Amino acid sequence: MGRGARFVHPEAQLGEPKVFKRPPETDTYNVADTDYSRRTAVTGLSVSPTDAERLRELVAEWKRGCQLAVNEAWDVCHTRSEVQQLTYDRLREETDLGSQHAVLATHRAAEAIKRARDRSGTRPEFTSPTVAFDTRTMTVFDDRTVSLTTTDERIRCDLKLAADGGYQSRYLDDEDWEPAKSGLHYRDGEFVFHLGFRTPRPAVDPPTEGATVLGVDLGVENLAVTSTARFFSGGELGHRREEFERVRSSLGATGTRSADRTLRQAGDRLDRFVRQRLHEVANGIVAEAEEYDCELIAFGELEEAHDLLPGAGAFHEWLFERLLSFVEYRAAERDIPVVEVNPEYTSQRCMECGFTHPQNRDVEAHQFECLKCDASAHDDYNAAKNIAFRCVRRGPLSSRGLGASACALQSGLVTPDDGFTPYAELSEPPKSD
Ligand SMILES: [Zn+2]
Repeated sequence: MGRGARFVHPEAQLGEPKVFKRPPETDTYNVADTDYSRRTAVTGLSVSPTDAERLRELVAEWKRGCQLAVNEAWDVCHTRSEVQQLTYDRLREETDLGSQHAVLATHRAAEAIKRARDRSGTRPEFTSPTVAFDTRTMTVFDDRTVSLTTTDERIRCDLKLAADGGYQSRYLDDEDWEPAKSGLHYRDGEFVFHLGFRTPRPAVDPPTEGATVLGVDLGVENLAVTSTARFFSGGELGHRREEFERVRSSLGATGTRSADRTLRQAGDRLDRFVRQRLHEVANGIVAEAEEYDCELIAFGELEEAHDLLPGAGAFHEWLFERLLSFVEYRAAERDIPVVEVNPEYTSQRCMECGFTHPQNRDVEAHQFECLKCDASAHDDYNAAKNIAFRCVRRGPLSSRGLGASACALQSGLVTPDDGFTPYAELSEPPKSD
């Protein structure tokens, strides 16, 4: 299995770092990012016992640092710069975090405060064994190793990749994808690295004025739902994935050549199916945008998908990212830009009256029912409409100026000024075949 067993000592000869075409990012956490596409390559890390101890220590200090920052800033402030200013010195004094990890911990604390205020209202507790890295605290090398800042010295370790490099190699080997915000997770005695990459979006000029936007919500049961009420099921993808996992576990750790082959064939079958399905869905989304004369397609920002979606694990994170890039490239051919907007509240806000409440949504039943105006809809459909509306200028959820002025629904357009207008009453209704 791969090259995982070989451990490279940090002081061993360093390979060439991946060449960056742009200066490394510094401070782009969770900002609705319209300029870059982001992907995550999930890999194991092969670490020596000594380095594992260093990483565990980092995880512990990171949790402690985030908690200190939250406790101090909770009643005071919530933007990253404010929380950093208020708590950075204390984190440096009271934890073993290095300077950049202390900065990142203050930012993580700020996000957690903001999110908690948006939702539960209770002060966040940092319990999950996760640490954020950026390009100042990690370096990715061409030889499939990564060096990481710890509370002690920097360590260098192998990425555990499949023998053929796996899908991760697509990003590692492609100079158009540069390393970006990443996360280390410690689970069941193993380190898993969510290696982030980013690349400039396909060059499509965003519309400057008056654009209509198609919103798309991503999920597990429905892979995608558009603001025009088109549903793309994700059920078969889930079944195929489970089937693959059954093959994998039935082969167990036999490690024989025929077991390897069987597993590889099952993996290839799954990959072909996923690819085909994602192309269908991507084509369907872009066709929907064209049918409704949309000049912009909006997704909820993927970085938060795993936080917002119960049951969406690494497989779905990977699916969503691939789907997004398929849509981006297909849409670019039609000169339609794709943007990601901040998805917060989009599943809780009533598209009819704007009332926002966590209990508007029954996650189990996939039902959205507004506590205030009684409007009801499929919850993913309601979310897709809100995602579109977030792009619309001066909308209550409005994102940065994207030149969008209306959001496309199945039966009409919604604008901040005029509310809902049925297509039949528009001077130029969308073309239909
Ligand atoms: Zn309502």
